[in-house]
Amino acid sequence: MSWTRKILRVNLSEGSCTPEALNMEWAMQYLGQRGLSSKYLCEEVDPKCDALGPENKLIMSTGPLTGTMASTAGRYSVTCKSPLTGAIASSNSGGFLGAEMKFAGWDMVIFEGKSEKPVYLLIQDDKVELRDASGLWGKSAWETDDILHRTHQDPQIRIACIGRTAENGCLFAGIINDRHRAAGRSGVGTVMASKNLKAVVIRGTQGVGNLEDAKAFMDAVDAGKAILAENAVTGEGLPTYGTQVLMNVINGVGGLPARNMRDVGFEGAGNISGEAMNEPRASDGKPNLTTKAGCFSCTIACGRISTVDKTHFSVKDKPQYHGASGGLEYEAAWALGADTGIDDLDALTYVNFLCNEDGFDPITFGSTVAAAMELFEDGVITTEDTDGIELKFGSAEALVAVTELLVTGEGFAKILGLGSKRMCEKYAKPELSMTVKGQEFPAYDPRGIQGIGLNYATSNRGACHLRGYTVASEILGIPVKTEQTDSDGKPELVKAFQDATALVDSAGLCLFTTFAWGMDNIAPQIDAACEGDWSVESCLEAGERIWNMERLFNQAAGFTADDDKLPKRMLEEAIKSGPTKGQVSKLGDMLPKYYEIRGWTPQGVVTEETRRRLSL
Ligand code: SF4
Repeated sequence: MSWTRKILRVNLSEGSCTPEALNMEWAMQYLGQRGLSSKYLCEEVDPKCDALGPENKLIMSTGPLTGTMASTAGRYSVTCKSPLTGAIASSNSGGFLGAEMKFAGWDMVIFEGKSEKPVYLLIQDDKVELRDASGLWGKSAWETDDILHRTHQDPQIRIACIGRTAENGCLFAGIINDRHRAAGRSGVGTVMASKNLKAVVIRGTQGVGNLEDAKAFMDAVDAGKAILAENAVTGEGLPTYGTQVLMNVINGVGGLPARNMRDVGFEGAGNISGEAMNEPRASDGKPNLTTKAGCFSCTIACGRISTVDKTHFSVKDKPQYHGASGGLEYEAAWALGADTGIDDLDALTYVNFLCNEDGFDPITFGSTVAAAMELFEDGVITTEDTDGIELKFGSAEALVAVTELLVTGEGFAKILGLGSKRMCEKYAKPELSMTVKGQEFPAYDPRGIQGIGLNYATSNRGACHLRGYTVASEILGIPVKTEQTDSDGKPELVKAFQDATALVDSAGLCLFTTFAWGMDNIAPQIDAACEGDWSVESCLEAGERIWNMERLFNQAAGFTADDDKLPKRMLEEAIKSGPTKGQVSKLGDMLPKYYEIRGWTPQGVVTEETRRRLSL
């Protein structure tokens, strides 16, 4: 079965922790993690509620494969209504916390209400209790992690917690686990702070031994691992360079946006790439990359552990940042670097440390800084607005200063902490926010890569590459090559990627396996582990069901086809130079077909027939 069949309901208003049985009927339809926790959210939370009010819920969930020996099976998700977008949010994270939750015997923890004072949840197998966290409030995620480790004197506990940005009301704060893994997007950490919940501490000793067919499972797992090892991306590119393997690749094909997406193509890309992280620095002769790291049970190990040059301006008087910590991945390097026009690898690495230390999303943060830089260069804001910071494209000093300011929550940080949509609206320049549904774009330009633009526009949690990574096909040729600047066939491609991704996110696996695995590699692992029918067809139908359920939540929250749109810049400002020169997004050509194959009305509404077909 692989589910523990147990969920923990924590009512923070009452201070109660109550175990209850997992709804297995729903598990058979929504599998686990993103899908199943979203089902609970849809059933229990009013989509129109205040995302930061006690009526919103925060659900931490594992998938049925989490904690097993399947490669990358260490994921967990955090699901809630997002304060950044107002849409459904589900952010997942690797590291070791998800597996520990499973070892403690829980599929899911549902937090509801709001505690009167700061608390943390301690889970030790079946023993669960809320403890006072007053002394932790105001501490960074790293300090919180250190204090809780000292308090519990158990090196094997796993901790997820929020930092100061969440407490300060930054709308894109995440939840940090294992010090540098994050449920990073859509402000799930801000929701955790709104409940006065500082941390979740877990120690589990029970293992995961309840597989439906252990022999078939291990056969499928072994076959899957062999495929990952032999694949050029998962067996070589990601282990060697991490996701940063993409920086030069995407730049080379005319897909890398720069300077708030005013430009496509970044002349400094090579300086902040995976290759650069491996090269000895001119300053101290050491490479940025100190070592590689993998999440629980991962045979890819794309994680980076980096060190900043001790003499670099950003850290030279700050010895606490001289050690190695979580390094840049591609999306962070793009948002903090190319999108701000900065190619100082040490500065970006330091800022990335701060994102982990105080728990905020580097994609939304970097993109918001980029929008602020454009406002500054256009004269819309001045140093009077920015607390004296000369917020110019290309200035590493400005990026460092504004990041340190964000952590304080003071002055201009209050505006930056709202994200680029609210910030640009405040300054009457909404067109400068590169967002969908209020969430900032990741590192691929919708004009140079057409399918990803349609995916951003229709993503249920706002602009996101991790909801349908069509870049795999459009750039890397996985599973088949499609032409990046063509819109033909992209609605079908986007739907296929979105549905498959929803299923992978619900199983407990990392999406990066899909560079090598198709559903015919994934379904046998789920099918052998879980009761029920998890054939390729059933898995894909479950993925489609999850996607439509999320859409229905958003519809009930008030979202319409009007929210499936890209900023004017993507539709009207053609790429000025490089291999994709002259391109704009062809979203208008793709959207009607996308709605049609989804089984929605021309206005993007899920039809009764589609609801019936998917048992929604
Ligand atoms: S591929 Fe990378 S992100 Fe995914 S589980 Fe492995 S180390 Fe973690």
